[in-house]
Amino acid sequence: MRQKLVAGNWKMHGGLKANLQLLQGVLAGVADLKGMSVAVCVPFPYLAQAQSVLTGTPVAWGAQNLSEQPQGAFTGEVSAAMLNDFACKYVLVGHSERRAIYGETDALVAEKFAAALAAGLRPVLCVGETLAQRDAGQTIDVVSAQIEAVLKRVGVAAFADAVVAYEPVWAIGTGRTATAAQAQEVHAAIRAQIARADAKVAEGLQILYGGSMKPGNAVELLGMPDIDGGLIGGAALVAADFLAICRAAVQ
Ligand code: PEP
Repeated sequence: MRQKLVAGNWKMHGGLKANLQLLQGVLAGVADLKGMSVAVCVPFPYLAQAQSVLTGTPVAWGAQNLSEQPQGAFTGEVSAAMLNDFACKYVLVGHSERRAIYGETDALVAEKFAAALAAGLRPVLCVGETLAQRDAGQTIDVVSAQIEAVLKRVGVAAFADAVVAYEPVWAIGTGRTATAAQAQEVHAAIRAQIARADAKVAEGLQILYGGSMKPGNAVELLGMPDIDGGLIGGAALVAADFLAICRAAVQ
């Protein structure tokens, strides 16, 4: 039985004061949430704060990106080892905003995934199609190619230490959510793709849904057999909403 994971992606939001309030608000509600995991992926400068506030609590923390390089003359980059210095558990790789705005290719995402794993971090591999790709009937092909690039680079066994997040690009930050059936179809296809390489790894793989998940749609989405949690953007910035989604994961 896979445990559900609800992870917040704060994106480029926050400040020391607001973060503290948000984290304290989340901590106040997570104590009774048994049988699921909670995490927040915060901007790099706030990793120290997350570590200091969340150490010893049920809430894990992580980053939203990392360099594929171990160290060196890469101005502005942050390595996996640096994330380890702040005891990160998770790191997002290949978020659609990184792919679309910063030109991250499938090959680069695969390198980042490998760098995270090599450092003992748990990569959360984000995949998803644009609206044009969905309308052209290419959803499964696009998502499967994004997964394949990583499979080819690291092999299927690596997915035992990773998480996948299916995030249709047209649903991120738009208020438009994939229906539970639409999401389930893609999640099942991702699991089947992994299962063709290793059935046991596929069975244990947490596949999160992301894209305008809110308290009002979380119960239905999280009730689908292959949806093992959520990657939450906007709603992760409001403690009550984030906690409501966490509660939906244990119903
Ligand atoms: C995200 O950024 O990963 C995301 C899912 O955002 P939102 O929940 O705001 O759509």
